[in-house]
Amino acid sequence: MSKPRVFSALAIACAMITTTPSALADTYIHAGRLLDGSGDSPREQVTIIVKDNQISAIEDGFIKPEGTEHTLIDRSKATVMPGLMDMHTHLTSQLAPGSYMDKYTQNEADLAFTSTVYAKKTLMAGFTTVRNLGDSFNVTASLRDAIAAGKVIGPRIFTATKSIATTGGHADPSNGYRDDLSPAVGPDQGVVNGPYEARQAVRKRYQDGADLIKITATGGVLSVAKSGQNPQFMMDELKAIVDTANDYGMKVAVHAHGKTGMLRAVEAGVASVEHGTYMNKEVMDAMKKHGTYFVPTITAGKSVAERAKIDGYFPAIVRPKAAAIGPKIQSTFAEAYKAGVKIAFGTDSGVYDHGENYREFFYMVEAGMPAAEAIVAATRSAADLLGQDKLGQIKPGFYADIIAVDGNPLDDIQVMKSVNFVMKDGNIYKQEL
Ligand SMILES: [Zn+2]
Repeated sequence: MSKPRVFSALAIACAMITTTPSALADTYIHAGRLLDGSGDSPREQVTIIVKDNQISAIEDGFIKPEGTEHTLIDRSKATVMPGLMDMHTHLTSQLAPGSYMDKYTQNEADLAFTSTVYAKKTLMAGFTTVRNLGDSFNVTASLRDAIAAGKVIGPRIFTATKSIATTGGHADPSNGYRDDLSPAVGPDQGVVNGPYEARQAVRKRYQDGADLIKITATGGVLSVAKSGQNPQFMMDELKAIVDTANDYGMKVAVHAHGKTGMLRAVEAGVASVEHGTYMNKEVMDAMKKHGTYFVPTITAGKSVAERAKIDGYFPAIVRPKAAAIGPKIQSTFAEAYKAGVKIAFGTDSGVYDHGENYREFFYMVEAGMPAAEAIVAATRSAADLLGQDKLGQIKPGFYADIIAVDGNPLDDIQVMKSVNFVMKDGNIYKQEL
């Protein structure tokens, strides 16, 4: 057993000391208030004991470790929570003026280097786990492995690699190209027509190391195409994708704004609906019946609606979609929450600036969800959506993914902006006083 590696810039100077292996070295975290991620009432003044990469015990009171080999983390005035989990990220990109040119200028290495910067920002904001729903060149599968191997600093990643679309659909990478510049796209590149190609695309992603599958069942805001909400897969294609994915132990996340495509995808058995803008009662009832999660991404909606006001920011065909769909997601979220649809936290980071994932908490609470439930959406519920039973809670046997904020997020959700302690897998990455 060894002491935690300390990656924070503040602690670089003592990294030599803290990485020295030492028998029986544990980390003791004094937590002024503990929100353990389960949704239970907060506990006051407890000590969390971390052994290697797992939580070994939670004791009442501030227990001082015996012996000098142990590390004591004093968060006795702070609120300590499980590492946050964002179920909808895009770590290889970030929307900016002119970024529609990126696909002509950015090669695989460019995306790979850039993604390490976004991954670090995400972790430092307190997000220790993300579900990446769409990349290029399978960069996030390599990024996931590099992070897990300790070569790069970032969150745990569960990746869908490249999204699957239909021809001309949202996430068809040839959209917007001049015909003679249009690359050849098929199932391997995530463009399918018919159930056989749908199966091939899923199997290719399994081969590429995907953890789950992402599909685009309706039009989308940012694609260079007319409709932001039309259904884009037929039922036989959706069934082929879900059944094949399930054979390989993968869940399916579906991008959907329009009602018809959303309903088809839910009936086909997807695990989560992303965005869900025009979700109505019929869809909500179907989601409750099937146990489908809703991942709202309100932050992305607000962000594109703001940018749609800027002349020339988006291509002309995108601008009206961003203006109409963007602002609607928050009110849909409010209705879905009231209706009892299962909610998992997700932001669509990359559509807005990486590292601002906390904004979603503000919008969820503003829409009527109690802060305690918003935190559960980003911890226990997110872990449930991922099918991970050792993530998302501070309990013995869970992975030591732990963060802290000053103040009480149950009284003031704004404090989620200021995460000042980040531990992932028992290693400390951020420790600000
Ligand atoms: Zn997305």
